[in-house]
Amino acid sequence: VSYDYDVAVIGLGPAGMAVSIMAAEMGLRVLGIEKRSLGGECMSVGCIPSKVLLRMAHARHAVTRFPDLALSETPLPAPTGTFRRIADRLQFIDEKKTRALFEKVDVKLREGPASFVDPHTVEVGGARFTAKRIFLCVGTRPAVPPIPGLDRVGFLTNETLFSLDRIPESLVVIGGGAFGCEMAQAFHRLGARVAIVHMDEHLLPHGDWEAGRLLEATFAQEGIEVYNGRRISEVTTAGGVIAVRTNVGETLRGECLLVAAGRKLDLSELHLENAGVEYSDRGIRVDTTLRTTCRHIYAPGDGNGVHISSHAAMHQGMVALVNSILPRPFRRNFRAYVVPWTVFTEPQVAHVGWLERDLKANDVAYEVIESKYEDYGAAMAEGVAVGSVRVYASPAGRIYGVRIIGEGAGEMINEWGLAIQNRLRLHRILFLQHSFPSMSFLSKRAAESWMVNRMKGPILRKLVRLFV
Ligand SMILES: Cc1cc2nc3c(=O)[nH]c(=O)nc-3n(C[C@H](O)[C@H](O)[C@H](O)COP(=O)(O)OP(=O)(O)OC[C@H]3O[C@@H](n4cnc5c(N)ncnc54)[C@H](O)[C@@H]3O)c2cc1C
Repeated sequence: VSYDYDVAVIGLGPAGMAVSIMAAEMGLRVLGIEKRSLGGECMSVGCIPSKVLLRMAHARHAVTRFPDLALSETPLPAPTGTFRRIADRLQFIDEKKTRALFEKVDVKLREGPASFVDPHTVEVGGARFTAKRIFLCVGTRPAVPPIPGLDRVGFLTNETLFSLDRIPESLVVIGGGAFGCEMAQAFHRLGARVAIVHMDEHLLPHGDWEAGRLLEATFAQEGIEVYNGRRISEVTTAGGVIAVRTNVGETLRGECLLVAAGRKLDLSELHLENAGVEYSDRGIRVDTTLRTTCRHIYAPGDGNGVHISSHAAMHQGMVALVNSILPRPFRRNFRAYVVPWTVFTEPQVAHVGWLERDLKANDVAYEVIESKYEDYGAAMAEGVAVGSVRVYASPAGRIYGVRIIGEGAGEMINEWGLAIQNRLRLHRILFLQHSFPSMSFLSKRAAESWMVNRMKGPILRKLVRLFV
């Protein structure tokens, strides 16, 4: 049988980019179909614009943090052109970088959604193409909870937030996860009055309670209101103000309302039944090699519902492509790789490997080793003495998981990911020289604490005495 393409990729976000660009570099004939924009949600309405906004907000906030530098002007002037600047940067990246990456890919951009005609044929914009292997990299969309009245007020999601023309005077955020927290801090630092309301007992329910509580304390200091454990009974609007009523009778008012309440699948346009690809509300069904219920169709990225992150999507794209080519014994299990998780608030929150609650739930004996920013001279001197590096390990130094709260957590967590993935024990971190005075020096400090604890044990003490 001959096909128009060796590989067809539906959706060109992080997962689809990884597949299509790698496959084209391998010399394969590649078709890429994207109904919205190159780079997917991540580039246009996700990771990148949200981090640009946070960077601006943190820079503006830094002015107030160092009053002794005589930089502060009270009150700070209202920021102007925030969203225009984000749009300009995204356009610059698109023109200067992203498009060039797709040089060797036959791209169908904004010609409509792709749908299956049969297991090897996809249709887009009325044209049909066949491919030997097909990769479904379709991601997810924002979930909108069934709150009475929500559909009658003009709420925002991540798909519309970055198209605002100015920072609103006030914002109510529904959802206390990573996106909700990041945007609450960004908008507050850019001058809006902000309240977060959500159902869970603490912020960042995907992480651990301690991180959520610490972030809440920081938010309280900054003036961001947090309402935990609330259900929303009704949303109304009058005179340009949106009112959110909670189950305990509070009414939170804001000029804008942001719904940051999780993700949902949207596979309706794909006609997966024509290809025999099975899925549920949780995601497209894949095996450990990322293959769907149809042998030559793979589904890397958020669409399979296993992880929601760009780095996991890119990694899965690479793994899926390699698996589609290699003979069975060489195929990779995508679940065998650790996935770090970072929230880019100030302080940052990151973890990799097992959380303490996972260890408890699985009855794993562990020891907690912690090095605190408040005990580190460099962090104190730089005015960032908040948070800690917390390691969960076996007495023999096997690292089960690491949680970092504090300056640089999102960068520091990668070293621990490498250690866990390669089964390096704590003494390997101890014997690695970390540049000083970087914040990652606190990771080495944690390994030192572990070693000091070992030194307190009778066996090592006896050995030391013997050698001395
Ligand atoms: C506000 C926000 C901030 C985030 N911040 C981070 C962060 O800091 N770090 C991080 O790791 N992750 C972050 N994420 C998550 C990250 O954006 C996603 O995990 C990532 O984009 C998933 O990549 P993907 O390739 O699976 O899907 P997507 O990026 O969603 O791409 C899927 C693409 O498929 C296209 N598509 C869908 N159906 C069809 C069809 N039928 N035909 C043609 N095209 C189709 C869509 O248009 C889309 O472009 C954030 C998300 C949001 C919303």
